[in-house]
Amino acid sequence: MNFDVIICFEVHAELDTKTKLFCKCSTNSDAPPNTNVCPVCTGQPGALPVLNRMAVEHCVRAGLSLNCTIANHAGFARKNYFYPDLPKGYQISQFEFPFCTDGFLEIMDDNGKEYKVGIKRVHLEEDAGKLLHASGSLKTSTYSLVDFNRAGVPLIEIVADHTRNPIRSLTEARLYLEKIRQILRYIGVSKCRMEKGELRCDANISLRQKGSKEFGNRVEMKNMASFKLVLEALSYEIKRQSGKLRAGETIIQETRLYDEASKVTVPMRSKENAPDYRYFPEPDLVDIDLDRGYIEKLTNETPELPEQKANRIIKDYGIPAGDAVILTKEKGVSDYFLSCVPICSDTSRASKWIIKELFKLLNASSIPIEKCPVTPERFSMLINLLSNGDITDIIGRTVLEEMFHDETEPLDIIKKKGLEPIENKDELKKTVDTVLLQNRGAVSQIRQGNTKSISYLIGQVMKKTNGRANPKETRDLIDEAIRG
Ligand SMILES: [Zn+2]
Repeated sequence: MNFDVIICFEVHAELDTKTKLFCKCSTNSDAPPNTNVCPVCTGQPGALPVLNRMAVEHCVRAGLSLNCTIANHAGFARKNYFYPDLPKGYQISQFEFPFCTDGFLEIMDDNGKEYKVGIKRVHLEEDAGKLLHASGSLKTSTYSLVDFNRAGVPLIEIVADHTRNPIRSLTEARLYLEKIRQILRYIGVSKCRMEKGELRCDANISLRQKGSKEFGNRVEMKNMASFKLVLEALSYEIKRQSGKLRAGETIIQETRLYDEASKVTVPMRSKENAPDYRYFPEPDLVDIDLDRGYIEKLTNETPELPEQKANRIIKDYGIPAGDAVILTKEKGVSDYFLSCVPICSDTSRASKWIIKELFKLLNASSIPIEKCPVTPERFSMLINLLSNGDITDIIGRTVLEEMFHDETEPLDIIKKKGLEPIENKDELKKTVDTVLLQNRGAVSQIRQGNTKSISYLIGQVMKKTNGRANPKETRDLIDEAIRG
């Protein structure tokens, strides 16, 4: 018996705004507990919310990038539930009138075809505070502390549509989540740092007989904080649910928790115990009318998304597709590359050196490219020196490393470190002769027709000159000496 898998995500992303959604408190997540609080975000009687314009803008931008229709008329609603980290006893969210509806996100499906995963809505809401359990876990703690710094931080919720091209496999699930993160970071609405809880996700999963139109009972898993855990939990559920269905059992519609340690999901609450949120329109906030001019302005300002940018880089600069994808994965990297383009005569070399050499240095020092000590201008100067044949790759690498720590121009480093290429032909000939004398074995192999040994000898000359020898001249000199 074969089953179709249907996965549906609700992704929450914390918006990158300076202040909270309905008050002027800072959103800084590194502040000491309960220092970014005021009567509004702690729900004091009589305090009134004032909507953050930037948060609305971010929500609309996210909706536009996910191909949604932007509403002319939107409004907020109260979602009522009790939990100690929710000071008002309700969350201000959107219910009937969200900002964005009916979008899609295009991913590559398991057969390598483009697949538009349906997105039902993108709405704006406030985050809750955080509970800190004394011993780290709710079960074993005798008391818990609450930090309201996060209460009222703006969130968007991106709800996928299970009836319109739902996700059907773990690979599609991973691509979908990665792409959402990439887009939100690209358009600058969220930093999406999962380790800081800035991106969290709930997943619904159900199975049905292959070809069936009926949906199976779905299981929901809440608040998973890493893609790895999401995929592990989904993988476990596929096994668990298909096992039960094969045995003729039914799947109970419920919410389950993923236990990271034992790698299983455990029941949390059944459908009967599901909370009734008693949504009603938020009386403290007026509805919002977005005029067409405003939506048009934001549409025009939507930056180029990763795929469009990769296509442009392939077309305009002749960069291979694989490299173009790497260059556009993070906006900072593509910005860096595109800043080099006008000053770099050889864009293909620039791309290769960013991916191979610059990444190596950035990774080794854990520096994001936005803070790269080598400016695109200086990096381009180096690439131009390489393209003109003024310096060899070996010298280029040394210079780049120096530029990384010493923030000066490549020519200054070359002078300071004595890395100029050997101009004096006699000096180079002397070194070549020494190398030939020391490698008689290789020389006789070349005489017998083994040309591979020439590269070895060139390598030896480079070693002796610290890469300052011109490779072409060196080859000519070796040729001359052996054959001449
Ligand atoms: Zn506040």
